[in-house]
Amino acid sequence: MSHRILVVEDEAITREVLIEQLSDLGYVVVGVTAFGSEALSLVAKTQPDIVLMDIKLGENDVDGITAASWIKEQFSVPIVYLTANADADTLDRAKLTEPLGYILKPFSERSLQASIETAIYNHQQIQKSADCNQKAATSMRQLLETEKELSQLKDRVIATISHEYKTPLAVILSSSELLREYRHRFSPEQINNHFDAIRNSVKLLSDLVEELTFFKQTQSKAFVYDPQPLDLADFCQDLLMYYQLASNGRHQLQLKVQPASLKPVLLDKKLLRYILSNLLSNAIKYSPAGGQVTLSCALVEQQIVLSVADQGIGIDPDDLQQLFKPFFRAHNAAAIKGTGMGLSIAKNCVELHGGEIRVESQPHQGSLFSVYLPLVWVIEDATEPSTNADYPELSK
Ligand code: ADP
Repeated sequence: MSHRILVVEDEAITREVLIEQLSDLGYVVVGVTAFGSEALSLVAKTQPDIVLMDIKLGENDVDGITAASWIKEQFSVPIVYLTANADADTLDRAKLTEPLGYILKPFSERSLQASIETAIYNHQQIQKSADCNQKAATSMRQLLETEKELSQLKDRVIATISHEYKTPLAVILSSSELLREYRHRFSPEQINNHFDAIRNSVKLLSDLVEELTFFKQTQSKAFVYDPQPLDLADFCQDLLMYYQLASNGRHQLQLKVQPASLKPVLLDKKLLRYILSNLLSNAIKYSPAGGQVTLSCALVEQQIVLSVADQGIGIDPDDLQQLFKPFFRAHNAAAIKGTGMGLSIAKNCVELHGGEIRVESQPHQGSLFSVYLPLVWVIEDATEPSTNADYPELSK
């Protein structure tokens, strides 16, 4: 291999001989200088594979050792010193610049070649080992990061499950004990109230288990994504009506669909219901009574954009980054019931569609969650979906 060599040598004859020998050996001399002070800029300009550096250079110039130390600070290039009879002090100084060899003058072609090849080989080995160390350090850092995240996740799961289980279990325990001990003193209505409390608590617990199971399913590679033709405007309208009723008139819910009538599109109804239900119920849950919640549906650049905007408590910028992590709850939500599972499930559901979910929010200034899903039209009376090119772009 014809390595590229920079020569720094102030004796004209030695320099000429060296250049000739290097050419004979098949090397490419990319730069030559008699001055140590020029060596650094020549390395930058010529990018050599190796520098042959005379230790003793002209009286008014820096010596080869100083020039080598400058090069070492900025470049990873092997340096081999050329020397006739350096004293012990000079050699000690030279050692500090970690040269990859010394060539004693006068030198033969064979010893010149052996020194160059050995230096380049050793330099490559050092580089490889440095790369390996770097890779090992990076893997170790990633491993520690993953371990830290897993440990945080475990803490959040334990905190959520124990917190969410505590209240309904306490209700079941107290109501059943009261019924056992004092049912003869209770009115039929009081007895029914205790049974209702037990039933509601059991429902809460089974909902939690169901949500955990669904969370696990949406994370599994085997989960089936089942797109079907869907009238998006009708779907959003029905969902909004449901939440309008569920909010008991405490919030104003509004639907914006653009364009007003949409042709059927291909989406997984079950997943979409989960996504929008989570966003709408959160918008209601994290907004004070009287707040407005808007569900918008638009077609933008071959994408379906579904967004839910509220005027609620908003989210701190520090919490925003972690919002879609399983079991994560923002600091300002501690007093409001929740498990922190909904958004991470919603994100999984969006990703199963090949889409993306984003959030914009400021504390006390409401939140805007936007879901971007690929737009696939369905031609009515046809079994196959049409391509997007069959329809004009509706808005930008
Ligand atoms: P949950 O509401 O059960 O806690 P989610 O996964 O649905 O779980 O939401 C995660 C967290 O994101 C919530 O605990 C809350 O801190 C924050 N959050 C979600 N939606 C909103 C919203 N519309 N306004 C303010 N905070 C929200």
